[in-house]
Amino acid sequence: MPVQEHITLKEKKKNPWVVVCIAIIAALAVALGGLAVYTVLTLNEQERIAQGLQDELNQTRSERSQLESDLSQKQQELEQKQEELNKKQEELEQNQADASAQIADRDQTIKEQQSTIEDLKEQIAMKNNAENKPPQNLPPAGEYGDYAGQKIVALTFDDGPGPYTERLLDELKKRGVRATFFVLGTRVDSYPDLIKRMAAEGHVVGNHSNSHKMLHNMSLAQVRTEMEKCATKIEKLLGYKPAVMRCPGGNCSNNVKQYAKDAGIPILYWGVDTRDWESRNVNSILKVSFGKNGVRDGSIVLMHDIYSTTVDAALQMIDRLTADGYVFVTVPEMLHARYGGIEPGKVYV
Ligand SMILES: [Zn+2]
Repeated sequence: MPVQEHITLKEKKKNPWVVVCIAIIAALAVALGGLAVYTVLTLNEQERIAQGLQDELNQTRSERSQLESDLSQKQQELEQKQEELNKKQEELEQNQADASAQIADRDQTIKEQQSTIEDLKEQIAMKNNAENKPPQNLPPAGEYGDYAGQKIVALTFDDGPGPYTERLLDELKKRGVRATFFVLGTRVDSYPDLIKRMAAEGHVVGNHSNSHKMLHNMSLAQVRTEMEKCATKIEKLLGYKPAVMRCPGGNCSNNVKQYAKDAGIPILYWGVDTRDWESRNVNSILKVSFGKNGVRDGSIVLMHDIYSTTVDAALQMIDRLTADGYVFVTVPEMLHARYGGIEPGKVYV
Protein backbone atom coordinates (compact mmCIF):
# COMPACT_ATOMS: atom_id res chain seq x y z
CA MET A 1 0.00 0.00 0.00
CA PRO A 2 1.31 3.36 -0.89
CA VAL A 3 2.00 5.96 1.76
CA GLN A 4 -0.33 8.47 0.26
CA GLU A 5 -3.08 6.09 0.33
CA HIS A 6 -2.25 5.18 3.87
CA ILE A 7 -2.49 8.76 5.02
CA THR A 8 -5.71 9.29 3.28
CA LEU A 9 -7.07 6.24 4.91
CA LYS A 10 -5.84 7.51 8.24
CA GLU A 11 -7.51 10.81 7.54
CA LYS A 12 -10.51 9.00 6.38
CA LYS A 13 -10.53 7.15 9.67
CA LYS A 14 -10.23 10.41 11.56
CA ASN A 15 -13.08 12.14 9.67
CA PRO A 16 -16.16 10.90 11.52
CA TRP A 17 -14.96 12.61 14.74
CA VAL A 18 -14.21 15.72 12.90
CA VAL A 19 -17.55 15.62 11.32
CA VAL A 20 -19.16 15.01 14.69
CA CYS A 21 -17.17 17.80 16.25
CA ILE A 22 -17.99 20.08 13.42
CA ALA A 23 -21.59 19.07 13.64
CA ILE A 24 -21.69 19.71 17.36
CA ILE A 25 -19.93 23.05 16.91
CA ALA A 26 -22.28 23.86 14.11
CA ALA A 27 -25.23 22.82 16.21
CA LEU A 28 -24.01 24.90 19.11
CA ALA A 29 -23.42 27.80 16.79
CA VAL A 30 -26.92 27.43 15.42
CA ALA A 31 -28.29 27.13 18.94
CA LEU A 32 -26.40 30.20 20.15
CA GLY A 33 -27.38 32.06 17.08
CA GLY A 34 -30.96 31.02 17.64
CA LEU A 35 -30.72 32.00 21.25
CA ALA A 36 -29.24 35.34 20.30
CA VAL A 37 -31.93 35.90 17.72
CA TYR A 38 -34.55 34.76 20.17
CA THR A 39 -33.14 37.03 22.87
CA VAL A 40 -33.03 39.99 20.54
CA LEU A 41 -36.50 39.25 19.33
CA THR A 42 -37.77 38.83 22.91
CA LEU A 43 -36.16 42.09 24.06
CA ASN A 44 -37.65 43.89 21.12
CA GLU A 45 -41.01 42.40 21.88
CA GLN A 46 -40.78 43.39 25.55
CA GLU A 47 -39.67 46.82 24.59
CA ARG A 48 -42.55 47.05 22.18
CA ILE A 49 -44.95 45.84 24.88
CA ALA A 50 -43.44 48.23 27.39
CA GLN A 51 -43.78 51.03 24.89
CA GLY A 52 -47.36 49.93 24.29
CA LEU A 53 -48.09 49.90 27.98
CA GLN A 54 -46.45 53.28 28.39
CA ASP A 55 -48.57 54.60 25.54
CA GLU A 56 -51.66 53.10 27.12
CA LEU A 57 -50.68 54.62 30.48
CA ASN A 58 -50.19 57.99 28.88
CA GLN A 59 -53.48 57.61 27.08
CA THR A 60 -55.20 56.64 30.35
CA ARG A 61 -53.58 59.58 32.16
CA SER A 62 -54.66 61.90 29.44
CA GLU A 63 -58.19 60.50 29.58
CA ARG A 64 -58.20 60.78 33.38
CA SER A 65 -57.05 64.35 33.18
CA GLN A 66 -59.82 65.03 30.68
CA LEU A 67 -62.36 63.35 32.92
CA GLU A 68 -61.14 65.36 35.91
CA SER A 69 -61.44 68.52 33.91
CA ASP A 70 -64.95 67.51 32.78
CA LEU A 71 -65.86 66.66 36.36
CA SER A 72 -64.63 70.01 37.60
CA GLN A 73 -66.66 71.76 34.92
CA LYS A 74 -69.76 69.73 35.75
CA GLN A 75 -69.17 70.53 39.41
CA GLN A 76 -69.02 74.24 38.60
CA GLU A 77 -72.15 74.00 36.51
CA LEU A 78 -73.88 72.16 39.33
CA GLU A 79 -72.88 74.86 41.82
CA GLN A 80 -74.12 77.53 39.47
CA LYS A 81 -77.43 75.70 39.05
CA GLN A 82 -77.66 75.35 42.82
CA GLU A 83 -77.05 79.07 43.21
CA GLU A 84 -79.74 79.87 40.66
CA LEU A 85 -82.07 77.48 42.42
CA ASN A 86 -81.39 79.18 45.76
CA LYS A 87 -82.04 82.55 44.18
CA LYS A 88 -85.32 81.34 42.72
CA GLN A 89 -86.23 79.90 46.11
CA GLU A 90 -85.50 83.25 47.77
CA GLU A 91 -87.56 85.09 45.17
CA LEU A 92 -90.38 82.65 45.69
CA GLU A 93 -90.25 83.11 49.45
CA GLN A 94 -90.14 86.89 49.03
CA ASN A 95 -93.13 86.76 46.71
CA GLN A 96 -95.00 84.60 49.19
CA ALA A 97 -94.16 87.03 52.02
CA ASP A 98 -95.28 89.99 49.87
CA ALA A 99 -98.51 88.23 49.03
CA SER A 100 -99.13 87.40 52.71
CA ALA A 101 -98.47 91.03 53.68
CA GLN A 102 -100.89 92.24 51.01
CA ILE A 103 -103.55 89.84 52.23
CA ALA A 104 -102.99 90.98 55.83
CA ASP A 105 -103.22 94.64 54.69
CA ARG A 106 -106.45 93.92 52.87
CA ASP A 107 -107.85 92.09 55.90
CA GLN A 108 -106.92 95.07 58.08
CA THR A 109 -108.57 97.50 55.65
CA ILE A 110 -111.72 95.38 55.59
CA LYS A 111 -111.72 95.27 59.40
CA GLU A 112 -111.27 99.05 59.61
CA GLN A 113 -114.03 99.62 57.09
CA GLN A 114 -116.32 97.27 58.99
CA SER A 115 -115.47 99.11 62.21
CA THR A 116 -116.21 102.46 60.50
CA ILE A 117 -119.53 101.09 59.25
CA GLU A 118 -120.36 99.90 62.78
CA ASP A 119 -119.41 103.34 64.14
CA LEU A 120 -121.58 105.10 61.58
CA LYS A 121 -124.50 102.76 62.31
CA GLU A 122 -124.14 103.47 66.02
CA GLN A 123 -123.92 107.22 65.38
CA ILE A 124 -127.07 107.09 63.26
CA ALA A 125 -128.82 105.02 65.93
CA MET A 126 -127.75 107.48 68.63
CA LYS A 127 -128.86 110.47 66.56
CA ASN A 128 -132.23 108.86 65.93
CA ASN A 129 -132.46 108.05 69.60
CA ALA A 130 -131.50 111.61 70.59
CA GLU A 131 -134.10 113.04 68.22
CA ASN A 132 -136.83 110.74 69.44
CA LYS A 133 -135.96 110.87 73.10
CA PRO A 134 -134.19 113.75 74.86
CA PRO A 135 -131.34 112.60 77.17
CA GLN A 136 -133.06 113.83 80.28
CA ASN A 137 -136.51 115.06 81.13
CA LEU A 138 -135.27 118.61 81.48
CA PRO A 139 -137.70 121.50 81.04
CA PRO A 140 -138.07 122.95 77.51
CA ALA A 141 -135.72 125.87 76.79
CA GLY A 142 -138.36 128.50 77.58
CA GLU A 143 -139.26 127.10 80.97
CA TYR A 144 -135.99 127.62 82.78
CA GLY A 145 -135.97 129.90 85.75
CA ASP A 146 -135.18 133.54 85.16
CA TYR A 147 -132.26 134.42 87.38
CA ALA A 148 -131.78 137.90 86.01
CA GLY A 149 -130.33 140.17 88.67
CA GLN A 150 -129.49 137.24 90.91
CA LYS A 151 -126.10 135.75 91.78
CA ILE A 152 -126.14 132.09 90.80
CA VAL A 153 -123.74 129.23 91.48
CA ALA A 154 -123.79 125.56 90.38
CA LEU A 155 -122.29 123.06 92.79
CA THR A 156 -121.10 119.84 91.18
CA PHE A 157 -120.11 116.60 92.93
CA ASP A 158 -118.03 114.00 91.03
CA ASP A 159 -116.99 110.34 91.43
CA GLY A 160 -119.95 109.28 93.62
CA PRO A 161 -122.27 108.23 94.95
CA GLY A 162 -120.39 107.18 98.07
CA PRO A 163 -120.93 106.56 101.78
CA TYR A 164 -121.32 110.33 102.51
CA THR A 165 -123.72 111.14 99.67
CA GLU A 166 -126.84 110.31 101.68
CA ARG A 167 -125.88 112.80 104.41
CA LEU A 168 -125.17 115.42 101.73
CA LEU A 169 -128.58 114.81 100.13
CA ASP A 170 -130.24 115.14 103.55
CA GLU A 171 -128.55 118.46 104.21
CA LEU A 172 -129.20 119.83 100.71
CA LYS A 173 -132.88 118.95 101.12
CA LYS A 174 -133.02 120.79 104.45
CA ARG A 175 -131.57 123.88 102.77
CA GLY A 176 -133.61 123.59 99.57
CA VAL A 177 -130.42 123.49 97.52
CA ARG A 178 -130.15 121.63 94.21
CA ALA A 179 -126.87 120.46 92.73
CA THR A 180 -125.44 118.35 89.88
CA PHE A 181 -123.92 114.92 90.50
CA PHE A 182 -121.49 113.53 87.89
CA VAL A 183 -121.68 109.88 88.85
CA LEU A 184 -119.66 106.80 87.89
CA GLY A 185 -121.38 103.74 86.43
CA THR A 186 -119.59 101.46 88.89
CA ARG A 187 -120.95 103.56 91.81
CA VAL A 188 -124.43 103.60 90.31
CA ASP A 189 -124.37 99.80 90.67
CA SER A 190 -123.67 100.17 94.42
CA TYR A 191 -126.08 103.06 95.18
CA PRO A 192 -129.07 102.77 92.82
CA ASP A 193 -131.48 104.21 95.41
CA LEU A 194 -129.41 107.37 95.82
CA ILE A 195 -129.52 107.96 92.04
CA LYS A 196 -133.32 107.75 92.15
CA ARG A 197 -133.39 110.01 95.17
CA MET A 198 -131.18 112.63 93.49
CA ALA A 199 -133.55 112.86 90.53
CA ALA A 200 -136.63 112.86 92.76
CA GLU A 201 -135.28 115.79 94.80
CA GLY A 202 -134.50 117.97 91.77
CA HIS A 203 -130.81 117.36 91.39
CA VAL A 204 -129.32 116.62 87.98
CA VAL A 205 -127.55 113.29 87.45
CA GLY A 206 -124.64 113.67 85.00
CA ASN A 207 -122.41 111.07 83.35
CA HIS A 208 -118.78 110.86 84.56
CA SER A 209 -118.01 107.58 82.65
CA ASN A 210 -118.43 104.04 83.85
CA SER A 211 -115.15 103.45 85.67
CA HIS A 212 -113.26 106.79 85.59
CA LYS A 213 -110.92 105.66 82.80
CA MET A 214 -109.21 108.57 81.07
CA LEU A 215 -111.06 109.16 77.79
CA HIS A 216 -108.70 111.46 75.91
CA ASN A 217 -106.56 108.67 74.37
CA MET A 218 -109.52 106.49 73.41
CA SER A 219 -111.08 105.92 70.00
CA LEU A 220 -114.61 107.19 69.45
CA ALA A 221 -115.93 103.63 69.82
CA GLN A 222 -114.07 103.17 73.11
CA VAL A 223 -115.33 106.51 74.46
CA ARG A 224 -118.87 105.57 73.48
CA THR A 225 -118.60 102.16 75.17
CA GLU A 226 -117.26 103.68 78.40
CA MET A 227 -119.82 106.52 78.53
CA GLU A 228 -122.82 104.55 77.34
CA LYS A 229 -122.26 101.89 80.02
CA CYS A 230 -122.92 104.53 82.67
CA ALA A 231 -125.69 106.24 80.68
CA THR A 232 -127.57 102.95 80.26
CA LYS A 233 -127.35 102.19 84.00
CA ILE A 234 -128.81 105.62 84.79
CA GLU A 235 -131.49 105.17 82.14
CA LYS A 236 -132.56 101.87 83.72
CA LEU A 237 -133.10 103.65 87.06
CA LEU A 238 -134.54 106.97 85.89
CA GLY A 239 -136.05 106.20 82.48
CA TYR A 240 -133.77 108.64 80.65
CA LYS A 241 -130.09 109.11 79.90
CA PRO A 242 -128.05 111.86 81.60
CA ALA A 243 -128.24 115.32 79.99
CA VAL A 244 -124.70 116.44 80.89
CA MET A 245 -121.28 114.80 81.07
CA ARG A 246 -117.88 115.50 82.56
CA CYS A 247 -114.60 113.83 81.48
CA PRO A 248 -112.65 111.95 84.18
CA GLY A 249 -109.80 114.24 85.23
CA GLY A 250 -111.26 116.86 82.88
CA ASN A 251 -109.31 115.23 80.05
CA CYS A 252 -111.37 115.56 76.89
CA SER A 253 -110.58 115.06 73.19
CA ASN A 254 -112.20 115.49 69.80
CA ASN A 255 -113.54 111.93 70.06
CA VAL A 256 -115.18 112.80 73.40
CA LYS A 257 -116.66 115.94 71.85
CA GLN A 258 -117.98 113.86 68.94
CA TYR A 259 -119.53 111.38 71.36
CA ALA A 260 -121.19 114.22 73.33
CA LYS A 261 -122.47 115.77 70.10
CA ASP A 262 -123.94 112.43 68.98
CA ALA A 263 -125.47 111.91 72.43
CA GLY A 264 -126.94 115.45 72.34
CA ILE A 265 -125.25 116.57 75.58
CA PRO A 266 -122.69 119.24 76.60
CA ILE A 267 -119.34 118.57 78.30
CA LEU A 268 -118.82 120.33 81.59
CA TYR A 269 -115.52 121.59 82.90
CA TRP A 270 -115.48 123.83 85.97
CA GLY A 271 -114.69 127.40 87.00
CA VAL A 272 -113.64 126.71 90.59
CA ASP A 273 -111.57 123.69 91.60
CA THR A 274 -111.82 123.38 95.38
CA ARG A 275 -108.94 120.80 95.40
CA ASP A 276 -111.02 118.89 97.99
CA TRP A 277 -109.65 115.55 96.77
CA GLU A 278 -106.14 116.84 97.47
CA SER A 279 -106.44 118.62 100.82
CA ARG A 280 -109.35 116.65 102.32
CA ASN A 281 -109.47 119.51 104.79
CA VAL A 282 -112.55 121.67 105.42
CA ASN A 283 -110.61 124.91 106.01
CA SER A 284 -108.46 124.42 102.92
CA ILE A 285 -111.54 123.78 100.77
CA LEU A 286 -113.24 126.92 102.09
CA LYS A 287 -110.05 128.96 101.68
CA VAL A 288 -109.84 128.01 97.99
CA SER A 289 -113.58 128.49 97.43
CA PHE A 290 -113.57 131.99 98.87
CA GLY A 291 -110.09 132.96 97.70
CA LYS A 292 -108.97 135.13 94.80
CA ASN A 293 -110.13 132.67 92.14
CA GLY A 294 -113.04 131.43 94.23
CA VAL A 295 -116.78 131.42 93.71
CA ARG A 296 -118.42 134.31 91.87
CA ASP A 297 -121.68 134.87 90.04
CA GLY A 298 -122.01 132.16 87.36
CA SER A 299 -119.39 129.81 88.85
CA ILE A 300 -119.45 126.06 88.33
CA VAL A 301 -117.76 124.54 91.42
CA LEU A 302 -115.96 121.18 91.40
CA MET A 303 -116.17 118.90 94.47
CA HIS A 304 -116.25 115.16 95.20
CA ASP A 305 -118.95 113.68 97.46
CA ILE A 306 -116.83 110.62 98.25
CA TYR A 307 -115.02 112.51 101.09
CA SER A 308 -116.58 113.32 104.45
CA THR A 309 -114.55 116.55 104.58
CA THR A 310 -116.05 117.65 101.27
CA VAL A 311 -119.59 117.19 102.58
CA ASP A 312 -118.73 119.27 105.68
CA ALA A 313 -117.06 121.97 103.60
CA ALA A 314 -119.86 122.06 101.01
CA LEU A 315 -122.49 122.65 103.72
CA GLN A 316 -120.48 125.51 105.28
CA MET A 317 -119.94 126.94 101.79
CA ILE A 318 -123.67 126.78 101.04
CA ASP A 319 -124.56 128.56 104.29
CA ARG A 320 -122.00 131.28 103.62
CA LEU A 321 -123.02 131.75 99.95
CA THR A 322 -126.71 131.80 100.92
CA ALA A 323 -125.92 134.55 103.38
CA ASP A 324 -124.14 136.36 100.54
CA GLY A 325 -127.35 136.20 98.46
CA TYR A 326 -126.39 133.39 96.09
CA VAL A 327 -128.97 131.11 94.50
CA PHE A 328 -128.02 127.48 93.81
CA VAL A 329 -128.85 126.09 90.39
CA THR A 330 -128.17 122.89 88.47
CA VAL A 331 -125.70 122.88 85.56
CA PRO A 332 -128.43 122.91 82.82
CA GLU A 333 -130.07 125.85 84.61
CA MET A 334 -126.73 127.62 84.79
CA LEU A 335 -126.05 127.12 81.07
CA HIS A 336 -129.52 128.34 80.13
CA ALA A 337 -129.16 131.36 82.39
CA ARG A 338 -125.71 132.21 81.05
CA TYR A 339 -126.02 131.25 77.36
CA GLY A 340 -129.75 130.93 76.72
CA GLY A 341 -129.38 127.28 75.74
CA ILE A 342 -127.09 124.27 75.53
CA GLU A 343 -125.01 123.25 72.52
CA PRO A 344 -124.34 119.49 72.37
CA GLY A 345 -120.64 118.55 72.15
CA LYS A 346 -119.49 121.95 73.42
CA VAL A 347 -117.20 122.25 76.46
CA TYR A 348 -118.48 124.65 79.11
CA VAL A 349 -116.38 126.05 81.96
ZN1 LIG B 1 -113.64 112.36 88.58
